[in-house]
Amino acid sequence: MPPPLRAEVFPAHTPAASQIFTTVLSHGPLTRADVARRAGLSAAAVTKAVRPLIEAGYLVEDADAETRPLLGRPASLVRVDGGRALFIGVKITGDEIFGVLTDLCCRIRVARHLPLPTRAPKAVLASLAELVRELLTEADGFGVPVLGCGIAVAGEVDRAQGTVRYSPFLEWRDVPLAELAAMTTGLPVTVDNDVRALTVAEQWFGAGVGLSDFAVVTVGAGIGCGLVVHGRVVAGAHSVAGEIGHITIDSAGPPCHCGRRGCLQAYAGDAEIAARVGEITGTPITDSAEALALAHAGHPGAREVYARAGEAIGRGIATVANLLGPERVIISGEGLAAYDLFAEQIRDAFTATAFGSAAHCDLVTRPLPFEEWARGAAATAIRGFVRADR
Ligand SMILES: [Zn+2]
Repeated sequence: MPPPLRAEVFPAHTPAASQIFTTVLSHGPLTRADVARRAGLSAAAVTKAVRPLIEAGYLVEDADAETRPLLGRPASLVRVDGGRALFIGVKITGDEIFGVLTDLCCRIRVARHLPLPTRAPKAVLASLAELVRELLTEADGFGVPVLGCGIAVAGEVDRAQGTVRYSPFLEWRDVPLAELAAMTTGLPVTVDNDVRALTVAEQWFGAGVGLSDFAVVTVGAGIGCGLVVHGRVVAGAHSVAGEIGHITIDSAGPPCHCGRRGCLQAYAGDAEIAARVGEITGTPITDSAEALALAHAGHPGAREVYARAGEAIGRGIATVANLLGPERVIISGEGLAAYDLFAEQIRDAFTATAFGSAAHCDLVTRPLPFEEWARGAAATAIRGFVRADR
């Protein structure tokens, strides 16, 4: 197969152009004056950056009768032309892969998922190729190009290199996923940590729109955290920023798969909760749905395990609030299925552990299915396409 060629390049690879594009994407339609104000740029800089984007069809400008002033020219509104291009986003979990085809506004047009027969990189790449092929076939009907594919994976991901350094659920180490997937799919590929990808989608379209500092905390198989500081999604120097799953809650606590004791993960990870519920209730438990059913049926031992998990999550969130002072923490992930069992403990432990004004941080819950995580992956592909610094 030939090496992937980017059929199209974003016409203005400057920080101002990508900032203007993402401002219009999140907040549009906007007048040029609003774009300048929100992006903190001069009117001249906006005019200069917008022109090639309009010429290439990524942005369109519509005359807007609503804002017509009494005197002078009517203000026109700038918006992203969603139908101009398509992107693919893929979220890989331990046993399934979820894929979406989105437009340039990151609206989901088609969603598909496939079971993963095994977790070996070769098998996952074969399933990925099949899923992308299906989505590309669907894309043919839209008559516009697919300009990139974003892949989201749990664990330590080096976005710049496109390498999965360590993914505990897939048991992968140092897999050059972007390179392999680009060869398999023929598309430009970006790879990112799954929680960071979800955070990009929340920043552009979700509960993080308009906030300069916020965090996304996900509970489920793993406990993850995406951080936005001064408007940027933070990866850190070693690509592990936000690994709150391995914050120590109690150094004498239960053993964690990382080799230490008492990590947040050891209290609140799905598999860890299920195992503990099995131990306490003396019932053989095979998955978290069974543990959840026992707790929902009122088994006191099972309910206690969820209460302890909630306390640990609340303390983990307070640690994030104390370190970074976010305006909001968005709690999501498949673990929200148990939210009624630990919501109170999360809030109480958060309030008890957050220092001073950090306790004013707004905690919101957002149930986001795996298609939304795949949409986050598509958002990273769009970001990769428009950003000057990739
Ligand atoms: Zn650990």
